[in-house]
Amino acid sequence: MSADPIRRRRYGRWRATPALPLLALLAATLPGCAPADAPLTPVFRLTQDLDPPLDQTPLHCDVADDFRPAVGCVPTMPLPIQGMPRPEGRVLTVPVKIWPHVKPDLVVFEPRVRGPREEWRRTPVMLMEYPPGGTVDLKVPLPEQVKGDQLEVQVLIRPVPPNRQERLTRALPIGRGAVLQVALGLDRTAGGVRGSPVRFRLIADAESGPVQLLESKLVPGEDRGWQPHEIDLGRFAGQRVRFRLESEVIGRAGATASETFGFPLWGSAQILEPRARDGRRNVILISLDTLRGDQLGGTLDGKPLMPKLAARSATGARFTDAYTTYPSTTAGHMSMLTGLYPARHGMVFATGYLDKAIPTLPEILARNGYATAAVTEDAMLTAYVGFVRGFDEYREIKGKTMWETSGEIEQTFGAGLDWVEKHRDERFFLFLHTYQVHVPYTPPPAHDVFRHWEKDGQRVPIDASTPPAVRDRHLYAGEVRYTDDVLDRLLERLDALGVLDDTIVVVTADHGDEFGEHGLIGHAKTVYDEVLHVPLIILSPHLVPAGRTIDTPVSLVDLLPTLLDLVRLPAPRELHGESLVPLLHGGRFPATRVLYAEAPKWGSGTGPRVAARVAGLKWIASGNRSHGVKHFDLTTDPGEQKPLDGPDIEAIGRVFEDAYRSVLAAAHEAPAAESKPGTAKKPEIDDATVEKLKALGYMD
Ligand SMILES: [Zn+2]
Repeated sequence: MSADPIRRRRYGRWRATPALPLLALLAATLPGCAPADAPLTPVFRLTQDLDPPLDQTPLHCDVADDFRPAVGCVPTMPLPIQGMPRPEGRVLTVPVKIWPHVKPDLVVFEPRVRGPREEWRRTPVMLMEYPPGGTVDLKVPLPEQVKGDQLEVQVLIRPVPPNRQERLTRALPIGRGAVLQVALGLDRTAGGVRGSPVRFRLIADAESGPVQLLESKLVPGEDRGWQPHEIDLGRFAGQRVRFRLESEVIGRAGATASETFGFPLWGSAQILEPRARDGRRNVILISLDTLRGDQLGGTLDGKPLMPKLAARSATGARFTDAYTTYPSTTAGHMSMLTGLYPARHGMVFATGYLDKAIPTLPEILARNGYATAAVTEDAMLTAYVGFVRGFDEYREIKGKTMWETSGEIEQTFGAGLDWVEKHRDERFFLFLHTYQVHVPYTPPPAHDVFRHWEKDGQRVPIDASTPPAVRDRHLYAGEVRYTDDVLDRLLERLDALGVLDDTIVVVTADHGDEFGEHGLIGHAKTVYDEVLHVPLIILSPHLVPAGRTIDTPVSLVDLLPTLLDLVRLPAPRELHGESLVPLLHGGRFPATRVLYAEAPKWGSGTGPRVAARVAGLKWIASGNRSHGVKHFDLTTDPGEQKPLDGPDIEAIGRVFEDAYRSVLAAAHEAPAAESKPGTAKKPEIDDATVEKLKALGYMD
């Protein structure tokens, strides 16, 4: 490969991590660097090729909030909490029961704390000799972000591993042009408890004899993140090689035996080889959290809100009627990544764990030769709940607090761009998620240009007397305009890297935001279209026809089947969504297709609120059976301000509500461990309901 000015270009604020001169040098001098039509493709992920194999799904461990599947990642175990935690100032005394059947010498206690419906927050870890049994009072200092007295606590323990470790892979056939990538790290726990330095050695046991490929020493607490290495395996082409991953803890001077321990990690260790592309393009999925569907193509105060994305969308397909499945972050994103309604995936808040029987988009792509990475911001897309599954790298960019994320978009997109730069010779999937337009609405001054509103037919400046919802609406617009700029720069730079020709780019959002249209502000409260309507564009030269505007109602559950269809991979059997590819080519969905959304239960409701949309009509069931079902004709009342009356049409709303709730009930009946792919119910409507809709004149 010739020297490439783009690879060396510095982006200033865009570059989230320092340049890696060694890696760049290796990449620039690699023999047989893959031609564009034969991208490097992960053929072995070493966590899955160990001998003996890992006895569970490869675990992800994090170094500096970057989670990777890692050899050496030690599973944590929860300890039962005995009685109520007792707060005293900023310290919580937590009585924990010690498992007597677990007998490690040393363990690290890792408490997590959170307020109601908040994300788990880590507290300082503690190293201890493992108590013999009984109950132990742990003193847990509360993180700054955690407030209030309704606190939930979890205590996990992580046994300290042996000081010398050796893991072997099975004998792997090495092809031409193969490279081995690995990132070395020390689990963040090590820095928290003064772990010792660790020496790593990687040895190839080849047919021609052993060859040391790598030796490196890492010191805990020197917070340098993962240390990436890329090793040319060209000399082993045609041989079968077992790789030996050795690590040894090196005691500090004067350290006692119990102070000499370490947590070595071999992150995202994989072998890549050039493979024919077979029409499988890269995928970049960008979620602009909280971006309303009406922003793309919309105007405010006489100015366009997203002029740059609107111009780009003309090079591909734009879905003007796309809807989320739930007006909050965790659930909407899980629908994007699973093709299932929240009634089935169950991840409504960032708690619990996604059913292992449900495959996610990154898992499917990783299994089919994609390098995978995610960069997300600090909240609700928590790695622990299952978002991390399938990703070789899952990075959480942390804000000062959960809700102070202004300007992080540049760091988030910059980290994504860096990753693409390093992986552009591979077939890849990148997922980017930013809270930029989410509250707080604090646009940079240069983008805070929506300064007037219309009052009683007059254009007047926004000032302290302007109603808060109007002020917020205009500040939000400034954030949207800023995001439009940053996104456009990202796409320009991806174009300059030369990857867009072979890439599918999707831009969407997990939900919108409401500004008093129905008396409320924010989201996660109602199922009106200001929070359900989201933007959706799909761009890919040669694959997605340019200039398509599609007004068929579609849902975030359609994203996974669409992307798999576009990259020619079979979809999982259990799906609520449909591929949108036929629509890209002028096709239509049957008029009877119903789209659903759910919102948390409210007040005296006995279940979640359910919205259903078909044939220009929308129903909203409150979750309380003694209440009526609201229904709207969206063709004449798109703002959902004038509920319609009529027992017949209300009865149809009940049919939809029951269909959706039956999915919820089925998911509850089949506990996670017992559910099988392909067994979930679809919320379908019967012929009788279709006939009723036809009789009422709502369907042809
Ligand atoms: Zn969100």
